[in-house]
Amino acid sequence: MSQMKKIACFCIPAHGHTNPMLPVAAELVKRGNEVRFYSFEEFKEKIAKTGASFVSCDAFLAKLTEKEEAGLKNVSTTEMTIQDIRITLKMDEFLEREFQTFCPDVVYTDSACFWGKLNAWKHNVPMVVSTSTFAFNQMSSQYMKNSPKELADMILGLPRVAKELKTLEPYGYHVKNALSLVQSDNETDSIVYTSKEFQPFAESFSDRYVFVGPSVFSDAVPRKEKEKPLVYISLGTVINDRPDFYGKCIQALKDLNVNVMISCGNAMDREVLGELPDNVEVYPYVNQLDVLSKADVFLTHCGMNSVSESLYMATPTVLYPQTNEQQAVARRTEEIGAGIILIDDSAEGIRACVQEILSKKAYAEAAKRCSDEFRACAGPAGAAEFIENAPHKSNGVDPLAELNRSNAKFQMIYWAIITVCIVLTGIFLGWSHVWMIGLAAGILSHPIGQVVQKRAYAAIIQKRKNQKQD
Ligand code: UDP
Repeated sequence: MSQMKKIACFCIPAHGHTNPMLPVAAELVKRGNEVRFYSFEEFKEKIAKTGASFVSCDAFLAKLTEKEEAGLKNVSTTEMTIQDIRITLKMDEFLEREFQTFCPDVVYTDSACFWGKLNAWKHNVPMVVSTSTFAFNQMSSQYMKNSPKELADMILGLPRVAKELKTLEPYGYHVKNALSLVQSDNETDSIVYTSKEFQPFAESFSDRYVFVGPSVFSDAVPRKEKEKPLVYISLGTVINDRPDFYGKCIQALKDLNVNVMISCGNAMDREVLGELPDNVEVYPYVNQLDVLSKADVFLTHCGMNSVSESLYMATPTVLYPQTNEQQAVARRTEEIGAGIILIDDSAEGIRACVQEILSKKAYAEAAKRCSDEFRACAGPAGAAEFIENAPHKSNGVDPLAELNRSNAKFQMIYWAIITVCIVLTGIFLGWSHVWMIGLAAGILSHPIGQVVQKRAYAAIIQKRKNQKQD
């Protein structure tokens, strides 16, 4: 074990982001480190159980206007970014004192927690980022499809975010742009709670990334033997106020030879679902890992934790993503064969998907393969060791930097060819129509660029493999 360290943990007030940090915090404490967890009353009990000292930050949470609250409920990236910046400012004086008195050796912070990241930079303390979903860079973010609403939110919100970022400067927080605060980069020590096999484009990340597998407390192993199959349904802990959807699930499954368990959250009154059929149980919150160890299908909103826990327990999935990040998790899960995406969310559509998963062994087998890969990862103990030994040195291998150089070369050659075409067309056929070549070239540059980038990436990865073998 390395020398005992003082470790400051930071997270935003969200279960999905806090949960994977808890087993790691417990492991850090067990290994003799002094751990402070800066979080919120809602998580106090969970954090206290890890043995870390809980530091309440509730006083710094902003009182939101109705519009801001609605924005956050819709998971508006702009509203979340602005709230994060404002909380950072409110916490500045408090964290200044904490950093002076506690003097942490390492900051372990959630990737979306601006005050954790910005204070690590400001106070020059080694930082390890906790990535509660997939690590996203220019390659892996191809798995995310932004809806027009999400795109509009991000584009229209840019001036507001830029204005808000400027307010950080006088406090000694220097930020280039919002992207530099949220995107995974190859120079930051980062923990990702999945396997290398499940992470899309895992080879595009540098060796400053560690893929430790799902971070969970449970020792439970899958136990699926029982009389009737169990279908578990949950939309997570954030946007779960969906009585209409639960109603359709009940309608879809009440006459099947299955038991159904629904976790509907606290926001909704369970009475609105009316009298429940004998084979259906509805709870505000369940011990999800325990349920998943027995479940045969999980109908999930595709939060990263939920899907990871499901695959960890070898439970195949019906995938019902609600945000772009969840879309990425859904696409990858379907790609490995451990689930199907629910496109038609009517009662008939839900029934068809559940029956499909139950009737074909291949889905459960794919989930089991993924479970084995997850269980072979280093887990919370590996994550704790990585934090203790931060900062890590890079071996200089950065596939993305290589890819960016190759992209820049492609752009140069592409536009040089287009310029020559325009000039030759102008000289020999006349100048009145050359604008069409320019327009077509502009429109085609993105799809062609994507194809070239994919091929360049494959070549870079192959070259690395060959070098490793030599
Ligand atoms: N969870 C739970 N019981 C429930 C519902 C959710 O323990 O009844 C936990 C679940 O195990 C997971 C987290 O809450 O760790 C939800 O995180 P996820 O990333 O899946 O979704 P989010 O709630 O952030 O949308």
